[in-house]
Amino acid sequence: MSRPDDAASGAPRDAAAIDAPTAGGATNDPSAALTDLTPDALREFVVAAGGKPFQARQVDHWLWKHGASDYDGLRNVPKTLREALAARHPLRHTHIRHRELSTDGTEKLLIGLPDGDAVECVIIPEGDRTTLCISTQVGCPVACIFCASGLGGVRRNLTAGEIAEQVLHARSRLEPGQNLTNLVVMGMGEPMLNLDALLPALQRIHDPDGIGMGARRITVSTSGYPRQMERFAAADPSYNLAVSLHAADDALRKELVPTASNPVAEIVAAAHRYFGQKGREVTYEVVLLEGRNDRPEDAVTMVEVLGRLPCTVNLIPWNEVDEIRAERDLHRPANARVDAFADALRRGGLNVTVRRQRGADKSAACGQLRLQT
Ligand code: SAH
Ligand code: SF4
Repeated sequence: MSRPDDAASGAPRDAAAIDAPTAGGATNDPSAALTDLTPDALREFVVAAGGKPFQARQVDHWLWKHGASDYDGLRNVPKTLREALAARHPLRHTHIRHRELSTDGTEKLLIGLPDGDAVECVIIPEGDRTTLCISTQVGCPVACIFCASGLGGVRRNLTAGEIAEQVLHARSRLEPGQNLTNLVVMGMGEPMLNLDALLPALQRIHDPDGIGMGARRITVSTSGYPRQMERFAAADPSYNLAVSLHAADDALRKELVPTASNPVAEIVAAAHRYFGQKGREVTYEVVLLEGRNDRPEDAVTMVEVLGRLPCTVNLIPWNEVDEIRAERDLHRPANARVDAFADALRRGGLNVTVRRQRGADKSAACGQLRLQT
């Protein structure tokens, strides 16, 4: 299991291992699925196999627009080309291994990976919107003390295809007329530590010839890596950023995110330098833990650090994880404490939202379903 370390540069010491190129867009990886190929790589393959470039586009359409789940589903693609593709690349890498539906309509999917491991994604219907939350790594190296995903460290990065396939699986679960309107990369894993796969995956999710979801509807959440945030911000198109801040005081933040090496000031400066300037929204997420980071003085520090910046602070009362609560003596704050914290931030001039608990009856917190199964 690898964990990021405290390099002053903001890069984890073992970033090379964690951030290593995966099959994102790779053409010469024999294990790459069709969903791992970039449009260019697919076109090259199709032409080399004797096909025409327009047929690569047809394949792409079947894969992403129609959600074909096997090669027989690529109906107007010549059999010889389908066979050439099938001999080299599985169509997809992943399958839905397990599903859990909450009474509030939230549906959690456990996505089986080819090596037997699994990650989670969650479909969250809310009025006119249907949001999907997807994962980027198996486990997480960051080890925030309240999070189920970080309990066993990280096992590996997902490939670009494994990330994007979560959207295909979720789409297959929707009711007629229901569309995925929003995507949040807030499931298992630290997205900034797997940018080599995340960026091509988002490209396929965003691309009008791929899944076709608007970049403004896509938000990526990070526990704060300024150097990687810069790389992410340079991506075209630009997506929204959420920064999991949890505390504006460095010492307290380090208690909650033990691997955090970058000062809060650097993380905040990076977020606003790269994203605020592009007119993209910056949201700060604060998981509230009773008596740990929800005290009046914690709100005061947060106002000092964020008070003048254009941003929204999203307060998330901790979703209790049994395995963690007992061992680490962490507790979800009562609503009155959450309201008092929110009011203190608002009095300091901040925009504040409080996240309503969703899917509470079905292991809603990230990483919990995998923990149980
Ligand atoms: N690694 C990234 C993205 C995945 S976590 C990050 O940390 O931002 C997505 C969000 O879920 C983060 O804000 C995280 O703090 C929050 N989270 C994790 N476990 C939680 C729990 N048990 N209850 C409430 N929020 C949790
Ligand atoms: Fe990783 Fe995010 Fe969980 Fe922290 S909160 S352990 S960064 S998934």
